[in-house]
Amino acid sequence: MFDLKKIRANFPILQREVNGKPLIYFDNAATSQTPQVVIDAIVDYYSSYNANIHRGVHTLSQEATDAYEQARLKIQQHFNAKKVHEIIFTSGTTHGINLVATGFTSLLKKDDEIIVSLLEHHSNIVPWQMLCERTGAKLKVIPINQKGELLLDEYDKLLSTKTKLVFVNHVSNALGTINPIKEIITKAHNVGAAVLIDGAQAAPHIKADVQALDADFYVVSAHKMCGPTGVGILYGKEEWLNKLPPYQGGGEMIKEVTFEKTTYADLPHKFEAGTPNICGGIAFGVALDYLNAIGFDTIAAYEKELLDFATQQLLTIDGVKIYGTSTQKTAVLSFNIEGLHPYDIGTIIDKLGIAVRTGHHCTQPIMDFYNIPGTIRASFSFYNTKDEIITFVKAVERAKNMLL
Ligand SMILES: *Cc1c(COP(=O)(O)O)cnc(C)c1O
Repeated sequence: MFDLKKIRANFPILQREVNGKPLIYFDNAATSQTPQVVIDAIVDYYSSYNANIHRGVHTLSQEATDAYEQARLKIQQHFNAKKVHEIIFTSGTTHGINLVATGFTSLLKKDDEIIVSLLEHHSNIVPWQMLCERTGAKLKVIPINQKGELLLDEYDKLLSTKTKLVFVNHVSNALGTINPIKEIITKAHNVGAAVLIDGAQAAPHIKADVQALDADFYVVSAHKMCGPTGVGILYGKEEWLNKLPPYQGGGEMIKEVTFEKTTYADLPHKFEAGTPNICGGIAFGVALDYLNAIGFDTIAAYEKELLDFATQQLLTIDGVKIYGTSTQKTAVLSFNIEGLHPYDIGTIIDKLGIAVRTGHHCTQPIMDFYNIPGTIRASFSFYNTKDEIITFVKAVERAKNMLL
């Protein structure tokens, strides 16, 4: 069962102090902390089999290649991709999105339409704007309601035979809203559009099944799910990955090179130019094993308990306004206190050892929608506790009293 004390002991960083107080880490939506098994995998790689992959005949290279490809298999199974070569290693979500957005340059024409949502992270807005600039395609935006939910009726109106691509995040990093992506995908497919789901914020909490969702692309970053930074994956349906041209040229992605003509390697290597983050890929596999051993249902149930408790506690403070009030949300609590700047609260509670994010969270359109400069965002993980939440709420109240 869920043994919180044991789980916390897996994370060495949770033992440290910040400004003389025990660390309370509530910035999990920005990056998650790293369990000892993942740290051990990284140390083990560099201590015993660090080598370049897919090239050498020597033992170390073979061991590294085997471990890296083993990780790809684990990731395939985790997301239930049909084929292992549909998993492309990337440096993270942003890289995966740019790979697809660049690839579509040759597949779009003027006046084609691309739909994104107002809930997107900048990394799922800017690459599409750049794609529109290159191709003359137009960007359309699915609006939201006050609760921070997508307006699906409006989405229906935006869809047409001109729609070629739809990009939506599975979970909003600023508000925590879980979007109805299955429905969004089905509707896009009805007009013949492809769909990319930004799973960066969902992956730590929800186990996505890319076949059941029928997603064309799904992207994640390892560092938000107990893995290291600098690695992630792009899942793409085989037929789409075959249609897209390579993103970068270099070693590993070729079959044959002459100055007259170069032929490209088969999937997944066509999209994996250069030496990848070998250690990171292997450690990502270990992080997935770690999360699956706890169980995603267990994680989701406990995090929901934390969210409900924190919401109720926080609302006892006068002047608190919470942004993102959908019933379908992950453990993200974005809020402001009337008359106070989020940054000032964040700075004071940091002195008390509490890490939260303040600002626009790379989602300026959402902040514009609510007409605010930013929020304080507390985002919880399965290794957080209710006692930490009580300390946090007291700290926010204290900060408020100091500032007002
Ligand atoms: C974190 C995040 C990203 C960007 O991920 P990187 O790891 O910085 O590439 C994109 N979208 C969402 C929803 C995120 O939460």
